[in-house]
Amino acid sequence: MSPKLLLVVPCYNEQEILQLTNQRLNTYFDQLLELKKIDSSSKICYVNDGSKDTTWTIIDSLTKSNSRVLGVKLAKNFGHQNAVLAGLFSFVDQYDCYITIDADLQDDIRAIGDMIDKFNDGNSVVYGVREDRTSDTFFKKFTAELFYKIMEKLGVPVVFNHADFRLIDNKVLKEFANYKEYNMFIRGIIPTIGFPSDKVYYKRLEREAGESKYPFSKMLAFAWKGITSFSTVPMRMVLWFGVINFIVSFVIGFYVLWSKIQGVAVSGWTSTLLPMAFFSGSNMIAIGLIGEYVGKIYEEVKGRPRYIIEKISNAGDSENHNVG
Ligand code: UDP
Ligand code: MG
Repeated sequence: MSPKLLLVVPCYNEQEILQLTNQRLNTYFDQLLELKKIDSSSKICYVNDGSKDTTWTIIDSLTKSNSRVLGVKLAKNFGHQNAVLAGLFSFVDQYDCYITIDADLQDDIRAIGDMIDKFNDGNSVVYGVREDRTSDTFFKKFTAELFYKIMEKLGVPVVFNHADFRLIDNKVLKEFANYKEYNMFIRGIIPTIGFPSDKVYYKRLEREAGESKYPFSKMLAFAWKGITSFSTVPMRMVLWFGVINFIVSFVIGFYVLWSKIQGVAVSGWTSTLLPMAFFSGSNMIAIGLIGEYVGKIYEEVKGRPRYIIEKISNAGDSENHNVG
């Protein structure tokens, strides 16, 4: 089967590279068509994420000269993740599968063909995984590795070295649309949806033109968003820290009392230190406990679906996707 593919490309100030990207993608699409890997109605959709340069003018003219190209223009800069969402959710039910890829060609486009193969093998999700990061700076490599490690430890279900280069099918996209949270961290959500999945490996290349829109400050903010929108572990750490503080306060208390009994304490010292040690410990436990409840509220407010049914057989063989 040759699936109808939509390629979603978020673009923020990409005027230096967009023409080249479009050329390469179109050439590659032609090859895929020739190999009958994709349907001829497959499209490339550029999402302009409130660029301040001529990115939209370029996209607009591409849509006019090439019927394969679609353009989505966001009202302002909403950030990479939201740009991807806008591209995907605007075309639910219109394609068989959807691939998201950055505009800078750092992700090897040849992996797209492999993704389609894996889709045809029956996978609903295909993750693009970076095989090596030789083109990245030491700093980027180090921080990225640290990011995945921390996420793993905190119980966030990320796929190691997978960014936002992935294929999902329409079934997954429909389920994904039920995740209404404001702080969307796509690469953490997709694995929680389920369905058969696989990976394809590729080499991460250098950005060919323009510069990274992810300076260190943005990268930190991104990592923080990933952690806080998935994990309540930091709050639990406060609770445990409080418990430890509380135990330590007892030790300090004994020492203080013992000094008092021995008569080596200056007057006023015992009555100051004892309550201080006791209350700082119990305060932190209280904060941690409140945090636990805030955490629960936070989980609820997100209103994520509690289960997703892939298929119900024997019910007239209709494919139901019930979300509860
Ligand atoms: N991007 C976007 N909105 C933003 C920042 C980035 O749509 O606010 C797009 C950008 O145009 C690119 C992709 O997200 O297609 C990844 O950004 P970039 O290549 O700068 O990140 P890096 O690869 O350096 O992490
Ligand atoms: Mg990049």
